[in-house]
Amino acid sequence: RTFVRIDGQVKFLNNSAVKDLPQREVGTPDYSDLPLRDYLSVIEVANPMHRLWSDGRWNKLTLAHGCYWGKCTFCDISLDYIGRYEPINASILCDRIEEIMAQTGTNGFHFVDEAAPPALMRDLAIEILRRGLVVVWWTNIRFESSFTADLCRLLRASGCIAVSGGLEVASDRLLALIKKGVTVAQVAQVTNHFTAAGIMVHAYLMYGYPTQTAQETIDSMEMVRQLFEIGVLQSGFWHRFAMTEHSPVGLDPMAFGVKRTDLTLGSFANNEVDFVDPIGVDHGLFSEGLRKSLFNYMHGVGFDIPLKNWFDFKIPATTIPKKYIQHQIENAAPPVYKDQNRILWIGAQPELMEAEEGFCELIFSGKKEDFAIELPLELGEWVSWLLAKVSYTETLHTLKPIRENYEAELGDFEELTESEVWEILREHGLLVF
Ligand code: SF4
Repeated sequence: RTFVRIDGQVKFLNNSAVKDLPQREVGTPDYSDLPLRDYLSVIEVANPMHRLWSDGRWNKLTLAHGCYWGKCTFCDISLDYIGRYEPINASILCDRIEEIMAQTGTNGFHFVDEAAPPALMRDLAIEILRRGLVVVWWTNIRFESSFTADLCRLLRASGCIAVSGGLEVASDRLLALIKKGVTVAQVAQVTNHFTAAGIMVHAYLMYGYPTQTAQETIDSMEMVRQLFEIGVLQSGFWHRFAMTEHSPVGLDPMAFGVKRTDLTLGSFANNEVDFVDPIGVDHGLFSEGLRKSLFNYMHGVGFDIPLKNWFDFKIPATTIPKKYIQHQIENAAPPVYKDQNRILWIGAQPELMEAEEGFCELIFSGKKEDFAIELPLELGEWVSWLLAKVSYTETLHTLKPIRENYEAELGDFEELTESEVWEILREHGLLVF
């Protein structure tokens, strides 16, 4: 299926007898003929997250074709490259990773998904650990709440160093219109989980969305300032909203309160289209102030400069409370264990040494440190069983059979989850997500 020029005429050839290749059959990209070592590495800015795009070369792969979310109203979701979601599985992905590593001798991967699906990222991370692959990787995501603190720790353990995702306009009214499926509070919590796990975060930021007011632009800027100041965002970029032909906004501008102005056909393509917004904000005025302030925030400076100082015209004062983001992070609900949660141990198996009077010692030898826990023998044996059972080398378990086993053998599972031994295990790699 393609457009070709035949005798000066552009024609669409659609051989419907030939089916699209399923993603699992497209094969592994072959870099073997490229002089990979001769490519230039460019450091555009010193910011360690921002420079990932240009510094060094990353092997490109995708976890899925299209986007698993497929709802954002500014996005070309009616087109095949976004709208047709087709994931592959972790095993095929790791086969491709291993093949490319053998081909190129490099172990850095950039998964260039539109938005990588969290469940598949989880499976990929486990498969990487199981195969003992030493890789570093990063990808695009949506800041959804399934990226819990523990899932982020698992991703980090598998080599994930960075994620980039759309915060778009940091305003709950506009995020709802965009159908992003997240709130600013959720983004703050999720970016905090990534950062705490040691994964850098880049945010795609947007201004000029239909019906956006000057107040919302300034409030969004203040949210971004706070996210950087508290340290849960490391990098970002402000994009001016562009109405594209195949997005829900472009397909039905009136439904979003704006009017398309240019209905003529472009000579090459009609991608970005002109529109008028009755709210009438001149969004171009904000571009330089947003850019300059963000550049400073990315370098860890300028947080104390009043927002109005970034602009050479009068702006409204922000309505966002000074510690809004901090409160959203601090007030995040603590994790509640549910039977359907998955449980996984990403550490090494401990050695059980019997001690005196019905006690034992579990000795853990880790990459970073060795430590030991002294426990009653019965509990020590159960912990030993648990860690072998839910090890990353085994199939993934839900919490239900583990809880049932503990309750049949030793007592109240809730008491265990509130105990010091549970806390120590959690700290050293017992993950529940
Ligand atoms: S903007 Fe991103 S998350 Fe939203 S539909 Fe498009 S690709 Fe998916």
